[in-house]
Amino acid sequence: MRPARDWNSSVRFCILGSSSGGNCGLLQTPGSRVLIDAGFSARRTRAMLAAFNQSLDDIDAVFLTHEHSDHVNGLRGLAKLENIKVFATYATSCAVQSAMPEVKIRWQIVERGASFSFGDLTVRTFAVPHDAMDTVGYLFSTGDGSAENPARSLAWMTDLGTVTENAARSAALADILVVEANHDIRMLEESSRPFSLKQRIRSKHGHLSNAQTLEYLKSVRSPRWKHIYLAHISPECNSVGLVREIFGEALDPEGACPISIVDPASGCPDVTEIGPWQRSNPDPERTRVVRQPEMF
Ligand SMILES: [Zn+2]
Ligand SMILES: [Zn+2]
Repeated sequence: MRPARDWNSSVRFCILGSSSGGNCGLLQTPGSRVLIDAGFSARRTRAMLAAFNQSLDDIDAVFLTHEHSDHVNGLRGLAKLENIKVFATYATSCAVQSAMPEVKIRWQIVERGASFSFGDLTVRTFAVPHDAMDTVGYLFSTGDGSAENPARSLAWMTDLGTVTENAARSAALADILVVEANHDIRMLEESSRPFSLKQRIRSKHGHLSNAQTLEYLKSVRSPRWKHIYLAHISPECNSVGLVREIFGEALDPEGACPISIVDPASGCPDVTEIGPWQRSNPDPERTRVVRQPEMF
């Protein structure tokens, strides 16, 4: 018989939404509840959290990747909540603050490439090439490696034109990987978008295409990943159906590593849960269960 579920010792992750209309993820560890990016209004974020039985009042911090509006639009409302600290690089904080000078944000400035602690999290930032001031990805880790509190980690990298070696090194350390599959190159070419915008999206500082992301994922030997989220899908230049077709069986024919696709319109109901216990039964339908290999 498996031990009773103890949410307090589990790590849970879900994506509230991800597209050019807004980006926000939720990571819950035994000692922290944090958002990654804040692309939705506070009211909408609260409603989205409620759908996952979470409250905005319990959020400790927001970790920003960069200043584009689909990642920071919610700060106006979120900044009113006194318990929320906002982590960003200095250049990102300046860009955000100059766009919303009236908003008082409790900044926690982080350096690109640095590691630091927040609650029970160890957070590492890594540079990603994107056309913003100082875009970063994040590697969040928690746990001391014991059976009760095993090491568990999440890498978040959306909004990047290329997967650099440095970014790939950080992402390879994660149990849960969030990476973008932004556009299909042909749909982008055939879209009515202005030439300059097409150039920007497909540049080395733009966004990853389906083909680039697939090539990157396939290039990683013996990945640690136990769950992959494909995010920041363009509603005009990509589709969930196409992403499913391209990535589906190509990555994991045995289905050992679930792949969740974040619909740009409706989001993603999946929750990754990594606990210290051994699980034998599938969870309720909206939850995907990811087990720690050492517990098998
Ligand atoms: Zn974006
Ligand atoms: Zn961006």
